[in-house]
Amino acid sequence: LLISKQDADTMTIELKGGLYIVSTPIGNLKDLSARAIEVLENVSFIACEDTRVTGKLLFRYNIKTPMKAYHEHSAERVKDKILSAIAEDKAVAIVSDAGTPTISDPGYKLIKLCIRNNYYISAIPGASAAITGLVLSGIPTNRFLFFGFLSSKREKKSNELSGLVNIPTTLIFYESPKRLVSTLQTMIKQLGNRPAAITRELTKRHEQVRRGQLNDLFLYYKSIPPPKGELVLIVGGMVKKIAAVDDNLDQIIINRLKSKSLRDTSIEISDETGITKKLVYARALALSKPKS
Ligand code: SAM
Repeated sequence: LLISKQDADTMTIELKGGLYIVSTPIGNLKDLSARAIEVLENVSFIACEDTRVTGKLLFRYNIKTPMKAYHEHSAERVKDKILSAIAEDKAVAIVSDAGTPTISDPGYKLIKLCIRNNYYISAIPGASAAITGLVLSGIPTNRFLFFGFLSSKREKKSNELSGLVNIPTTLIFYESPKRLVSTLQTMIKQLGNRPAAITRELTKRHEQVRRGQLNDLFLYYKSIPPPKGELVLIVGGMVKKIAAVDDNLDQIIINRLKSKSLRDTSIEISDETGITKKLVYARALALSKPKS
C-alpha cells in the first residue's frame, strides 16, 4: 500500500547543492518525516548502505530517486562519485538502513570530507533507536552517554565497561540479542547491580520494554531463548548514593563483617550501594586484616 502524498508536481523543489543526512524509520515505515520525503524525492541520488533495504522504503513512498550503495569502507570510487556530484552543485542524500546515519552507522567520513571541502551539509532529523529506547526506559534522561556497540570480544568488553563504572550519567548501548545474557553478566561484574531496561523491537508490532535491576534482567534472559529482533540496553549511571556511602563505607563493612563472610558482605553491600563487588571486597579484605 502506498502512503498518500501530495501531487508529485507540488513536491518538486530545487534543493541547494550539498549533502543531506536523512534519518529514516527504525521499524515503522510511517516514521519518515515530510521533509525527509521531500529531500529524498529531490536529490540527484541517495547513498545508502543496502539498496534492497532502502528500496523498500522508497517503494512504500513511491520515490523514484536512484540509489548508490555506500558504506564506511566503500571504494574511493564511490566516495569520489558523491563528492564530485556535490562539487557540481548537486544535492545528494545519505541514509542508513535504519535510523540516523552516522549513529553506529556509516556516514561520518563523508561528512568530514564535505566539511573539509566547505560543501553545504544539512541534517533531516528523525528516529534513532538510542533516543527512542532511552525515553521508554524510565531511567534518567537529563544526562546520558551513548556508547553504541560494546566489543564482541570478552576481555575488551570487560575493559570497556570497567571504564564506565564512575560515569554518573545514564548509559545507552546497542547489543545483539544473542550476546545479551553475557553482556548483562559482564555489566553486573564491572558496574555492579543497577537499574536497567531492555527495549526491543522499537516502533514495531512486537515492541517490548523490560525494566528491572541488572541482576533480575540477567536471571530472566538466562532462563529463556535469546529474544528476537533488535534491542537497546539502557543502564543507570553511577548512583549518587555512592558519594554519601563513601564516608561511612568502612563502618558499614565492619558492621556487616561481624555476622557475614567477606564474600557475602561484598555481594550485599555492592547490591545496596551500586559500588562494584570487586571494590567492596578489596576494602573489606583490607579492613578484616589485623593491623600490625
Ligand atoms: N543508526 C541507527 C539509529 O540511529 O538507531 C542504529 C544503527 S545500528 C547498526 C543497529 C542497532 O540499533 C541494532 O543492533 C539495535 O541495537 C539498534 N536498533 C535499531 N533499530 C531498533 C529497533 N527498532 N528496536 C531496538 N533497537 C534497534
